[in-house]
Amino acid sequence: MKLFICLSLTLIFMFITYVRKSITPRGIITGGIITFGLAYYGGIPMFLMIFLFYIVDKIFSIITDDQSDDQRNEIQILSNTLIPYVCVLLYAYYKNDILIILASAGFAECLADTLSSTIGKHAKYHICLRNLKRDENELSGDVSVLGILASLFGALIISFTYYELINPNFFHFVLITVLGVVGAFIDSVLGAFVQNKYQCSKCKKIVEEKRHCNRKTKKISGFLFIDNSTVNFLSVLITVVIGMIILIL
Ligand SMILES: [Zn+2]
Repeated sequence: MKLFICLSLTLIFMFITYVRKSITPRGIITGGIITFGLAYYGGIPMFLMIFLFYIVDKIFSIITDDQSDDQRNEIQILSNTLIPYVCVLLYAYYKNDILIILASAGFAECLADTLSSTIGKHAKYHICLRNLKRDENELSGDVSVLGILASLFGALIISFTYYELINPNFFHFVLITVLGVVGAFIDSVLGAFVQNKYQCSKCKKIVEEKRHCNRKTKKISGFLFIDNSTVNFLSVLITVVIGMIILIL
């Protein structure tokens, strides 16, 4: 019965992402495997968290009339969900509740971070963390008041899910919320200081892509291979490690 429910939930999830065209085909399969594992080993609350992570961001993209129809690929899916997924797999084996709190904190960070960019890009102005100056076009590593409020909202959605469906513990609720917001801020710091940035030789814009205006861009800052997905992965990892230190000490 459990297997049947989890398979059905996973297929519904895959079907929605397929119809919405929000994820590439390989991303849908990767997301399906992760979703099934989360539902099977973590139960309905964990399924709900990954579902909310996709859906809430999509809803806000539609509300804010976000025209960019970038599809998420399997690397972007994994960079966000792999660590919560591993926490849930470890929970299935060790049955330690701390792992569920950490998985929730990981998702809180993911949703906080996505919402801070989806909603935050509509802020009147952004502050670049590198030089604390106003930035016109929003890039990874830029922060805004609207973005920070959006990240708080994103983290609250997950911590509230935890509180209502897993454990009505106020300390855990606050911890997951704070970790989500702090994690999203760490993401911005990494985005500002270590993520690769490029300059378009045609329009002179600073961008995050290797190509712009149909031509190769020139790298102007950042480390080796660190792109947006690496930054996402690292910020979830750091969030979970901070949570682990707080919960174990
Ligand atoms: Zn350009």
